[in-house]
Amino acid sequence: MTVFRAFSNQEILTYLTAQVPDGRVLTDDSTLRQYSFSDKQTGDDSGLALAYIEAHSTKDIQGALKAARKYHLPVIPQDQMTSTVIGADGLTDSLILSTAKMNHVLDISKADSVAVVEPGVINGDLDKLAREQGMFYAPDPGSKPISGIGGNVATNAGGMSTVKYGATKDNVLGVKVVLADGREIKLGGRTLKQAFGYDLTQLMIGSEGTLGIITEVTVKLLPIPLGTPVMGVAFFDNMTELAKAVTAIRISGVYPTMLEALDGNTVAALDRYEKTHYAKDSAAMLIFKLDNGGADSMKVVEDILTEQQASNVTITTKPEEQADLEQLRRDMLPAVFAGQNHIMEDMAVPLSQLAPLMDYIQDLAQRLNVDIYTAGHAGDGNVHPTLVWPKEATKTPEAVIIALQEMFKKTLELGGTISGEHAVGMLKNQWNNAELGEDVDMLQHQIKALFDPMNLLNPKRKIN
Ligand SMILES: Cc1cc2nc3c(=O)[nH]c(=O)nc-3n(C[C@H](O)[C@H](O)[C@H](O)COP(=O)(O)OP(=O)(O)OC[C@H]3O[C@@H](n4cnc5c(N)ncnc54)[C@H](O)[C@@H]3O)c2cc1C
Repeated sequence: MTVFRAFSNQEILTYLTAQVPDGRVLTDDSTLRQYSFSDKQTGDDSGLALAYIEAHSTKDIQGALKAARKYHLPVIPQDQMTSTVIGADGLTDSLILSTAKMNHVLDISKADSVAVVEPGVINGDLDKLAREQGMFYAPDPGSKPISGIGGNVATNAGGMSTVKYGATKDNVLGVKVVLADGREIKLGGRTLKQAFGYDLTQLMIGSEGTLGIITEVTVKLLPIPLGTPVMGVAFFDNMTELAKAVTAIRISGVYPTMLEALDGNTVAALDRYEKTHYAKDSAAMLIFKLDNGGADSMKVVEDILTEQQASNVTITTKPEEQADLEQLRRDMLPAVFAGQNHIMEDMAVPLSQLAPLMDYIQDLAQRLNVDIYTAGHAGDGNVHPTLVWPKEATKTPEAVIIALQEMFKKTLELGGTISGEHAVGMLKNQWNNAELGEDVDMLQHQIKALFDPMNLLNPKRKIN
C-alpha cells in the first residue's frame, strides 16, 4: 500500500539545516552509510539515516531536536561509534546527531581535582592532558584511544582499572544535558560530594542516549599514585582455577589496579596476532597490576599465586614491558575477531560465582560445539566470551544463538547481569524483563516517557 507522506525529505532537510547554525548537516550517501552502519553481526537491525548532523554547539543540538519534534523523526545520539551493542547505528530515516566534534577540554583543575569536557573528547586524550599535570582520568575501557567521554558516560563504560577505581559512574560529578524538548539542564557539578535532590546525574550515566543529549561532562581526576607500579603475568590450568586466584587477590587487601583474564583460545589468538609465545603450555593467563607494588603487597600476591598453583609467574617494574602487557590485553578484540564472524558478550557475576561461570562456559562450548574465546575484567567478575564462526557463513549459526541464550540464563541464575559495561543497545533489549523484572521494566518505561514523551531519542535501544 502506498503511504502518502505529509512532508518531502527536501522540506525536512531544508528546515533542519536552518536550525543548525554552527555545525553541518550532511546527506550524501557515503556519509550516511559510514555513520549508519557499524560492523556488527546483527542482520537488518540498523537502517540508513536521513541526515548526519555534525553538531558543533548546544544550539545545533537544540535545533536538530526541534526538527525531530516537528517531523517526528528518531534521533540517534552518536559519539565515536565504538559501541559493541548497536547503540549508535542509524535507524531508517533517523537523524544521527553526532557530538564527536564537540571535543574541547574546557577546564582542568588540579586544585579541584576535576576536568570539564565536551562529549567528543577522546578518553585517552583527556587522560594524557591530566597526566601532564600529575593527575589522571581513571576509567580506561579497551577503547580508551578511540572512544569519547560522551559515549563513555552514556554507556557507563568500565575497563581494566575498574577493579580499583570504579566505572565511569564512579568518576563523573556532573553533566549538562539537552532534553528532548530542547531545554538544557545542568546536573551535579564540581563538588566531590552532593546530596541534593534525586540523583539525576547517575540516571543519565548509562542512559544510552535515550533520555537526553550530553553536552558537557565534569569528571573526577585523581593524583597519580606514589610508588612503583608492578605488573605481572601468571598461568593456570584453566579459567576456573584462575578465577579462584582472582577472588583471593581481590579480597586480600592489596587493591590491584588490574586483574585481567584471558583463556587459552584467546592467548593463542594473541600469539598469532602479536607473534608472542604465551600459549605454549597453559590454558589461562592472568595479567595483574598494582599501582604501588611495595614488598608487603607483592608477597601477598606471590603467596596467593603459589597457593593457587599458578605457573610461569613473571613480574616486571619496567614501564616499557608494562606498556606491552597492557597493549597485549587491549589487542584481545582485534586478535580474536581477525577474519571471523563474532559476537562478544559482557556478563558480570558476583565474584564468588566467577569460577562456576567460567566452568559453565567451558562446558557449554564443548556441549554445543561452539568456538568461544573468553577474556575479561575478571577482578570485577566481568567476562567477555566471544563466540566466533566462519566468515563465509551467511547466517548466525543456531548453536551460537542457543549458546548466547543459555549463557544469559545461567548468568541471571548466578545473580549476575548480562551487561557489565557495554550497555544494552539493540542487542540485548529483549532481555529487559528477564533481568529487571516486570515492575522495574515498567518503571523504566515511565521514566523514559517523562523525559522523552514522543520517544524520539534512540528508540528501539536500551529499554524498547
Ligand atoms: C576495541 C574495543 C574495546 C572496547 N573495550 C571496552 C571496555 O573495556 N569497556 C567498555 O565499557 N566498553 C568497551 N568497548 C565498547 C565501547 O567503546 C564503549 O561502549 C564506549 O563507551 C562507546 O563510546 P563511543 O564514544 O564510541 O560512543 P558511541 O558508540 O558513539 O555511542 C555509544 C552510546 O552512547 C550514546 N551517546 C553517544 N554520545 C552521546 C551523547 N553526547 N549524549 C547522549 N548519548 C550519547 C549513543 O546513542 C549510544 O547509545 C570497546 C569497544 C571496542 C571497539
